[in-house]
Amino acid sequence: MADKITMSASGVLHVSDNPIIPFIEGDGTGVDIWPAAKLVLDAASKKHGKTIEWKEVLAGQKAFNETGNWLPDETIADFREYLIGIKGPLTTPIGGGFRSLNVALRQILDLYVCLRPVRWFKGVPSPVKHPERVDMVIFRENTEDVYAGLELEAGTPGAEKLRAFLKENYGWELHDMTSIGIKPISKANSERLIRAAVNYALENDRKSITLVHKGNIQKFTEGYFMKWGYELIRNEFADVAVGWDDCGGQPGSKLLVKDVIADIALQQVLTRPSEIDVIATTNLNGDYMSDALAAQVGGIGIAPGANINYVTGHGIFEATHGTAPKYAGQDKVNPGSVLLSGVMMFEHLGWTDAAKDIVRALEATIADKVVTYDFARQMEGATEVKCSEFASAIVDHL
Ligand code: NAP
Repeated sequence: MADKITMSASGVLHVSDNPIIPFIEGDGTGVDIWPAAKLVLDAASKKHGKTIEWKEVLAGQKAFNETGNWLPDETIADFREYLIGIKGPLTTPIGGGFRSLNVALRQILDLYVCLRPVRWFKGVPSPVKHPERVDMVIFRENTEDVYAGLELEAGTPGAEKLRAFLKENYGWELHDMTSIGIKPISKANSERLIRAAVNYALENDRKSITLVHKGNIQKFTEGYFMKWGYELIRNEFADVAVGWDDCGGQPGSKLLVKDVIADIALQQVLTRPSEIDVIATTNLNGDYMSDALAAQVGGIGIAPGANINYVTGHGIFEATHGTAPKYAGQDKVNPGSVLLSGVMMFEHLGWTDAAKDIVRALEATIADKVVTYDFARQMEGATEVKCSEFASAIVDHL
């Protein structure tokens, strides 16, 4: 009998060999990549005596066509109830009342960590000389910063009122016709993000955490993200982790926590990738860093991601690319992003053997130079296969 994944009061997930997991197929190329990824995920589960009961939930264009609603309440209710889910890419509805369905899902379920592991898989074409040196995990804050949606359009009564308020109360003179955005960075949300990164680093034997911020310019938002981070280490993790200044860069056996300004960080991930391990950063920096890093190891066709709330146990694993509508239904694109998101999900559930098997089989398939169009166009002597054929080749290697 299939059953629900649950979480104990101490924060441990309980996962049977036959869990129910909700999935969103996704719009556009979702119809291609989801069945391909599912084929591999099911085969790897079966090999280890497990069977997932997939429960389709609707969102995006498919939901709108079938229910008239882009994000039905039942979908949210199912993600709440079953804790862990996975999704393909979603079309952003124009004039649908949402800025983005992905952002809506993250906000409604308070999925405060956007987790993006970035590592190179042998054989994947890369623009850098040593992609094998890239093995980083990004913890991007997912709920505030300029993504909080606090913006006023130039010339509107709201913007004019705020402009007048800022002049009267702070002496800030802004031009007329100025759009104004507010960037909130709170202590509580910075702490919970950095706490999650530290716990992850400790559990996964990582060497360091780098707090990436722009605190040299934005002192009380980005700068305080860093300050609150170091304080958290001293207050909650002093026995297992230490800040750079508190140990002169010599952490001994403890986890080292350091910080780098965002622009320098974007340089260092290219020039000295082995020095950067787990990254904890604010929302907008995290957005830039995720894509820049993904490019180093093969691009968005293969970059996985997850949105997680470690306190409630909710998590949605997701393809990080969009719906690529020009390729939709052609059985062409790379299913790697949603498949590797499934691998992350398996790791999160404690199904590490099945996760390792998929990675091994994926690497073997790429080593055979059997790849989808995106890799084939960058590899000499490659055999270009369809999305579904790529998945079947991975299953053959399982
Ligand atoms: P996109 O769908 O990510 O596609 C941009 C390009 O990335 C594609 O043209 C293709 O490059 C490459 N690509 C995407 N998926 C790929 C895959 N599976 N395998 C290999 N290459 C892949 O971005 P977009 O065209 O800007 O956005 C389209 C729609 O997706 C929009 O409605 C947007 O709002 C939405 N979106 C959703 C998400 C999400 O659900 N998480 C994220 C981003 C965007 P080439 O042309 O070079 O082959």
